[in-house]
Amino acid sequence: MERTYLMIKPDAVQRGLIGEIVSRFEKKGFKLVAMKFLRLTKEMAEKHYAEHVGKPFFAGLVEYIISGPVVAMCWEGKDVVAVSREMMGATNPAKAAPGTIRGTFAVDIGRNVIHGSDSPESAERELAIYFDSCEFVEWDRSVQAWIV
Ligand code: ADP
Ligand code: MG
Repeated sequence: MERTYLMIKPDAVQRGLIGEIVSRFEKKGFKLVAMKFLRLTKEMAEKHYAEHVGKPFFAGLVEYIISGPVVAMCWEGKDVVAVSREMMGATNPAKAAPGTIRGTFAVDIGRNVIHGSDSPESAERELAIYFDSCEFVEWDRSVQAWIV
């Protein structure tokens, strides 16, 4: 089953949006496989955003992402990479569709609330920055057994 790396960024943590954001992925039907609350080091941030080295916004991006704690998560499910990107909305929240996470909670491209891997290959690379293989939890989501 496909996996992705999702990260609730420091602005969303500061604003008390952790529950709201996690809830959307739970309700969609995806499965949480790993989660931790941490503050990125500069080295981790530079590794995470390696593809953006040299771009004019890179220094500000690193400063933003290490400015406070984040929630690092692995989610699993059918087409989770593409579907979660849809749920997040466009990178620039001003252009993100209403109802998406960025479209609902953000206006500034430099404070856009959430990160999500852009391909299964990126997910694999990013997950390895944040998690050891033993931290991915194997379990079944069974709603039925608990609500009857
Ligand atoms: P995404 O997060 O949607 O995959 P990118 O990979 O293109 O977007 O960019 C990574 C992150 O860098 C964005 O989420 C955003 O926080 C930041 N960013 C991208 N472009 C800009 C920009 N022009 N100015 C400021 N920050 C930017
Ligand atoms: Mg990206």
